[in-house]
Amino acid sequence: METRELPIVAGHLALDFANTVDDPLGPARHDHLATPAELVRWAARVGLPVELEPTGAVLHEAHALRDVLNRVFGAVVDGTPPPWPELRPYAAEAVARSHLDEAHQLAWEPTTDGRFLLWPVAQAAQDLLTSAEVHRVKRCAGCPWLFVDRSRNGSRRWCAMNDCGTHAKIRKYVDRRAERRRSGLT
Ligand SMILES: [Zn+2]
Repeated sequence: METRELPIVAGHLALDFANTVDDPLGPARHDHLATPAELVRWAARVGLPVELEPTGAVLHEAHALRDVLNRVFGAVVDGTPPPWPELRPYAAEAVARSHLDEAHQLAWEPTTDGRFLLWPVAQAAQDLLTSAEVHRVKRCAGCPWLFVDRSRNGSRRWCAMNDCGTHAKIRKYVDRRAERRRSGLT
């Protein structure tokens, strides 16, 4: 199966990082961060610094952090207590390795192992978890992806209308037609 370009649709760095496995529970499952080069490519797409390629060990850590983010914000969506102790070491390391830039934002110097790529993501996750915007975190109605619903009336349902939303509509249409055929209406 041809791999599509990963859509970046969550509206937040931490959730975009969580959403880097396409179709996680489905037949088209594809990890878009399967190699260090792919992690660098993703980082470039979301505007993170990409000076150095991460080692295999850091890629492994990146996958672990991604799992943590899915558990933490999955719990937020489900209304259960987020497992903060799982995220805390990543957030603590991000703060410990940071400096304050001229705009009073945390910033990080590149490290030769590429580990510096994880820190802005971990920091973004902590920021989101402790902000009012956390109440706008939702899970797509068609897949396990997470996003921040910034629609004025909180009505966003899909990670992206042109894939999940459309697929759901087509499925509904096909189901309705099958239903009509079964009941002899067509
Ligand atoms: Zn979706």
